[in-house]
Amino acid sequence: MNAYDLHSAAGSPADLPSAFRDQMQAQLGPEFADFQQILSTPAPVSIRLNPRKPVYDTTNLNPVPWCNDQGPVQGFYLAERPSFTLDPLFQAGAYYVQEASSMLLYEALGQSVNLNRPLRVLDLCAAPGGKSTLLASALSADSLLVCNEVIRSRVSVLRENLEKWGYANVVVSNHDPEEMGNLAGFFDVVVIDAPCSGEGLFRKDPDAIQEWSEANVQLCSARQKRILDAAIPLLDERGILIYSTCTYNDSENLDNVRYLTENGFRNRPLIFPPEWQIVDKYVDNSVGYQCYPHRVQGEGFFISVFQKMSFTAAVKLDARTFRSIRALRPRETTTAMKWLENPASFSFWEKPNGDVMALPKGLEKTFLFLDSAFRNKGFGLEMGQFKGQDFIPSHALALSTEINRQLPAIELSKENALRYFKKENLVLDEPLKGWLLARYNGLNLGWVKGVGNRVNNYLPKDWRIRMDIKEYV
Ligand code: SAM
Repeated sequence: MNAYDLHSAAGSPADLPSAFRDQMQAQLGPEFADFQQILSTPAPVSIRLNPRKPVYDTTNLNPVPWCNDQGPVQGFYLAERPSFTLDPLFQAGAYYVQEASSMLLYEALGQSVNLNRPLRVLDLCAAPGGKSTLLASALSADSLLVCNEVIRSRVSVLRENLEKWGYANVVVSNHDPEEMGNLAGFFDVVVIDAPCSGEGLFRKDPDAIQEWSEANVQLCSARQKRILDAAIPLLDERGILIYSTCTYNDSENLDNVRYLTENGFRNRPLIFPPEWQIVDKYVDNSVGYQCYPHRVQGEGFFISVFQKMSFTAAVKLDARTFRSIRALRPRETTTAMKWLENPASFSFWEKPNGDVMALPKGLEKTFLFLDSAFRNKGFGLEMGQFKGQDFIPSHALALSTEINRQLPAIELSKENALRYFKKENLVLDEPLKGWLLARYNGLNLGWVKGVGNRVNNYLPKDWRIRMDIKEYV
C-alpha cells in the first residue's frame, strides 16, 4: 500500500509514554485533556493544489485557513480519505496530499520574503517533497529551488513527486548538508524541515509513539544543531532561514531558536490571526509558532523564522566548471523546441550521458554551476534523449507544465488511466502511430507509442502502481 493511502489509525492515548505525557501536561496545563482526547480521533485529510494543473473540483471543500488567499498555494480539507494511489489526478500531479499544519510554511514565507522577486531557495531536508512542492508553487518562475535529501533511498520519491509537480526551475540533490560547503553564501532562503522525534504525528502515525524516547529527543536535538551548523554558511547575508519540526518539545524547538540567535541570526516574528489558534512560544526575546491538533485542524507543527546578520563571502559561479555539458547544435535545438509550449524561454543543453535539458533563460549559469557542484542530482526539465534522428521524450517532459499543449494526445477513461498506471498496454478503438501523451481530465499522465490498434506503455517501471485496481475498473 502506498504511504498516501495509510488510514489514520487513531492512536491510543493510553499508549503515550509517561515522560511524554508529563512533558505535554507541563506544556499545556488545563488544555492537556483536550490534547489527549483529540489523539484518539482520526487525523483530518488535506490536499494542496498544483496551480499549474488546475483541474481539481474544490466545490464544497473547506479551505485550510492559511492557504486560502486565491494565491498559488491553496489547501483544502477532504471529508474522507480516498485511495490517492488510484486517483489519476493525484498521479498526474494535480495535487499533493499534505497535512494542513505544515502548509503554514506558505504564510511564514510570504511574511518574510518578497515572493515576486527571483530567489535562490534551498529545501535542505526535502523528501518526500511536501515543502518542496509548496515552495515550487509559491516562488516566482525566475527563482531557483534546490531540493536536497541526504538519504539516498528517499531521493527517488522526492524526484518522483517533483516530476509530477512539473516545474522547470527545480534541482534535486542528494547530499549530507555538511558536504554542501561549496555553496557558501549562495542562497537567499534556506528551509530546514528538520528530522525530529515526530511527537506531532502521533495521531497520524502511531509507530512514532513506539519510537519516542527522551534519549531519541536528545539525539534529534543534537542532529538538528549539526544541520543548522552546516546550513548557516550557505545563506547570504540578510538571507532568511525557516526552521520547522513536527514536534512539541523545547529541546528540538525553542533550544534551536536560541541556538540560531546565538549564532548570528535575528529572529523574525510573524503575525497570525487569533482565530487560527496558533500558539506563540517564546524563548528570551525570540518566538516560534506551534500548531496543536486540539486547536487547529491539523497535526503538531512548529515553525520559526530568522534572518542572517553575519557576512559570508559568496561563492563565484565559475565558468570553467561547465565543461561537461554542451549546448545543443542549431538543428537539435529546433527539434527540442518543438516539444515545449514556450521554447523561447529556454536554452537547450546535453549532458555527457545524453540527457537533453531545457534550462530557463537567465538561470543557465546558476543551473550549470549546480550541475558541477552536486554529485548526484536531477534537473526539473530533463527532456529526453536523441537516438539517431529521433528524439525520445522523457517521462518528466510528459508531466512538465512546460510541455507543448498541441502535441498529439489521447484522452483516457478512468479505467484506462488506471491500466496505464499498472503499466498495461492499452487496446484502443482507432489505430494510432508514434508518440502520444496519455491524458486524463486533460492532464498528461505519461507517454504511449501507437503501433496499430495497440499502444505501448512508456510509464517508467518504478512508477507502476502495485495496488489491485479490479474494484475500480
Ligand atoms: N520536508 C519534507 C516534506 O515536507 O515532505 C519532510 C522532511 S522530514 C521531516 C526530514 C528529512 O530529513 C527526512 O527526509 C530525512 O531523511 C532527512 N534527514 C535525516 N537526517 C538528516 C541529516 N543528518 N541531515 C539532513 N537531513 C536529514
